[in-house]
Amino acid sequence: TDVIRPLHELLAEHADRLGEKTAFHDARGSVTYAALERRTRLLAGHLAALGLERGDSAALYLGNCLETVESHLAIARSSAVGVPLNPHSTDAELAYLLDDSDARVVITDPAHLDQIRRMLPQRPRLAVVVTGDGPAPPGVASFESMAATEPPVPARDDAGLDDPAWMLYTSGTTGRPKGVLSTHRKSMWGTAASYAPLLGLCESDRVLWPMPMFHMVAHNLCVLGVVAVGATARILDGLAAGDIVEALREERSTFLVGVPTMYHQLLETARETGLGAPELRICMVAGSACAASLHHDFEDAFGIRLLDSYGSTETGGPITANLPDGPRFPGSCGIAVPGLTVRLTDPRTGEEVADGEEGEIRVQSPAVMLGYHRQPEATATVLSDGWYRTGDLARRNASGFLTITGRIKELIIRGGENIHPREVEDVLIQVAGVAEAAVVGRPHPVLGEVPVAYVVPGPAGVDPGVLLATCREQLSYFKVPEELYEVDRIPRTAIGKVTRQALLDLPARLRLAGGTFH
Ligand code: ATP
Repeated sequence: TDVIRPLHELLAEHADRLGEKTAFHDARGSVTYAALERRTRLLAGHLAALGLERGDSAALYLGNCLETVESHLAIARSSAVGVPLNPHSTDAELAYLLDDSDARVVITDPAHLDQIRRMLPQRPRLAVVVTGDGPAPPGVASFESMAATEPPVPARDDAGLDDPAWMLYTSGTTGRPKGVLSTHRKSMWGTAASYAPLLGLCESDRVLWPMPMFHMVAHNLCVLGVVAVGATARILDGLAAGDIVEALREERSTFLVGVPTMYHQLLETARETGLGAPELRICMVAGSACAASLHHDFEDAFGIRLLDSYGSTETGGPITANLPDGPRFPGSCGIAVPGLTVRLTDPRTGEEVADGEEGEIRVQSPAVMLGYHRQPEATATVLSDGWYRTGDLARRNASGFLTITGRIKELIIRGGENIHPREVEDVLIQVAGVAEAAVVGRPHPVLGEVPVAYVVPGPAGVDPGVLLATCREQLSYFKVPEELYEVDRIPRTAIGKVTRQALLDLPARLRLAGGTFH
């Protein structure tokens, strides 16, 4: 479609037509469409002058801020590859990501500069750019002066639509993060031709963005999506409910994307303060599924639906989504997005399964990644004949709606019987007093693995006897957790996914019950 075209063309057109309109703002400032076009053009020239060649990687090590968007666009305009990194990485994680991506330049903020400087002795070729108003220290380039002055060479502005443009790392929920390589065409397809029209994202939208910016959903919707349609976005640094409430009021936001925990907190705050958000029309949920009770309570409080969606870094965008006016099926993450084909297959034979049966989700679409950076074997395992194997399991109903039942890698196999953590979690979360629940397999000498449950109690506390009785009543005997622990929090990734292995290391406050089944 005509939305898939070079970014500099799109920016030039917006600068002409929407020049004085605010494109993005954060707590510190804002940028209009005219300024966005000019600043990214100047930055792109300076990046080339710093030694960023066509096809080189440039890492973004930034929090949620305007400069993240500008960096993405500027790197693309220098025909290089933008690599957004989780700014909460440890030194060891950061070193791995910088080396794995072969980063030539890193753009960071003053808060992260010391950590980046610790990386330099082993990486003498790495050029550093720092944001902020103050002067940059010796040997470091200033983002602000690059964005405001004529560069020695002009922006290249000549990347082909099929050239590599971005490399996003998977969350690393199930292993070391892998670099997922995408092109301009793929990324724009996953955004402008997919998310945006589905959800009706348009020029008049005021997007509120509290989600981490280094993740696929942010890249698709907040960076490329907002720019593609010429909307305005307010970038928040973090998911704190108080900040979201204030911004919703101030910005009269129309479009919000978040994770289940965030919507849960928003709901609590709304109950305490009587918050309404009359102009909010889209509340999308990304990363993991929402509990049925949250759907119900949220709709009661705000008068609009929470729209569950399902996607992955590798598919460069959504796989399924619930639409604002579409039919709905409780627990479903929606219907395959247009232009993308979903198949559910038997993980052992690859044969398609019938409606209602569980199968692995395979996806074919123009946005599926080129492959994992430097990992041809891992790429070959998941990509063949244009189909991507997600490793996720689901059932499809007769209307084509998918319900995710689990991830193959997270499946607990107890003495030959399969247990989906999700299925046990769904039972636990219904019990009065349970705020959050997670289930993980613990190695067992005889059975291979056994399910162990962790619950975070709400203010009123949990009755372990009721928990156990509910599990025994609603689950087959082999799915009943062997042990139940009460914990203060469930460890999650930046986008809210349970990191199941970290659970096993968590200090449990109280062992609620053990040896429930032998
Ligand atoms: P890694 O591959 O390193 O473990 P990851 O797969 O967690 O990382 P992402 O690409 O961010 O990294 O996550 C995609 C995965 O998130 C999907 O494959 C799926 O397992 C899960 N997911 C996304 N949306 C949903 C949803 N609505 N319901 C259930 N699971 C979801």
